[in-house]
This record gives sequence, C-alpha cells and structure tokens, in this order.
Amino acid sequence: MRLPLDIQSVKGFLHPDEGRRLHDLALHAASLGPVLEVGSYCGKSTVYLGTACRAAGGVLLAVDHHRGSEEHQLGEAYHDPALYDADVGAMDSFRAFRQTLAEACLEDVVVPIVASSELAGRALRLPLSMVFIDGGHSLAAAQTDYLTWATQIVSGGVLAIHDIFEDPADGGQAPHQIYQLAIASELFVALEKTRTLGVLKRR
Ligand code: SAH
Ligand code: MG
Repeated sequence: MRLPLDIQSVKGFLHPDEGRRLHDLALHAASLGPVLEVGSYCGKSTVYLGTACRAAGGVLLAVDHHRGSEEHQLGEAYHDPALYDADVGAMDSFRAFRQTLAEACLEDVVVPIVASSELAGRALRLPLSMVFIDGGHSLAAAQTDYLTWATQIVSGGVLAIHDIFEDPADGGQAPHQIYQLAIASELFVALEKTRTLGVLKRR
C-alpha cells in the first residue's frame, strides 16, 4: 500500500493497522460497487479507502454532516478548537476534509455527502460493495447507521465497524452492539478483527 500523502499529517482517530486493513478490504471489494463510509472527520479513513478505490477503479461515498460527534463539541473531551466555526457556533470539519482530499489527489474518487447518515440514507439506495461505520457513537446513531447502510451491501461485500470494545471499561458499547446485531442477523459472517475494527462479510 502506498498512500498519496503523509497520513500522520491528517487529524483523526484511526490506528495505522486499522487503516491498512480498510485499504486491503476496499481494494478487493470496490469492483463490486461503490464503497461508503459514515464518519469522515478530517479524512484519515477516507484516504485509506479512497486510495484503494482509485486502484480498483471504484468510488467512495463519504457521509458526514461535519458538525462533529458528541465528544467533539465545545467543552467535550475530543474538541479541537481549530475545527470550530465561531461564526456559526458549530464544529466544521468539512474545510479540513476538503483540504485532505486535495492533498491526497482524491477529488475525482471521493463523493463527499455533507448530510446526516439518516438523511443520506433517505436519499440513496445503492448496491454497496463495502460500508465502513465510524459515525456517532450513541446507540441511536449506531443503530441508524447499521439499519440504513448494512442492508444495502451486496452479497460478498464487506461491513466494517470501528471502535468495538468488548469491555465497557475501554469504551462506549454502541459499535459493539451493532456488531452483535450484524452477527445475529445471519446476513453476515464475522472475519478476523483488527484492533477495534470489526469486519464482516455479507453472505
Ligand atoms: N473516520 C474518521 C473519524 C470519524 S469521527 C477518521 O478516520 O479519523 C466521527 C465523525 O462522525 C465526525 O466527523 C462526525 O461529524 C460524524 N458524525 C457523527 N454523527 C453523525 C451522523 N449522525 N451522521 C453523519 N455523520 C456523523
Ligand atoms: Mg472511530
């Protein structure tokens, strides 16, 4: 894997092992249809997925309202003042995201969708080759992401879910709960995990 920029220069929340795994999964899946991610932030996961989509001749849909998750809001643990738009009084990671796309030369591979997952889901019905869920971590948000997008994955496609912690002491449980939902649905077979990245294949 060769990335088109120094990935450490991109703000985000993804371990390089997880990024490499996303890249490899997308490289094999992307010929089956568009890849979609929920939760782009400043584009770290987007660069891994987008680079693979380019190599495979595919496209990446990147869904994020760019207003931040709960933990990114003013006064919260992961707030970044550089991503706060004081004029609007809200988080705005879209400017940084576009800059990442430009630096990574991915503007002709990635389709940014600046909308909530729920709204984008109301607009789009697609045969997706791969879905990466890394959006809001409330149970309601994670369930919406799963119910909206996982059902649109084609047979043989991939579902990847970030921030899976088996022990509640290590982190929030919503991603783990939708991971369990996917397994219980019998629509998916669980593959090996990479750190906190759960990976499933659509039957
Ligand atoms: N994948 C990124 C990190 C994503 S952080 C990386 O590799 O670094 C989570 C992102 O999800 C935030 O940018 C936030 O704006 C977005 N998000 C949270 N809830 C959302 C929702 N309901 N719809 C769309 N995006 C959402
Ligand atoms: Mg995450």
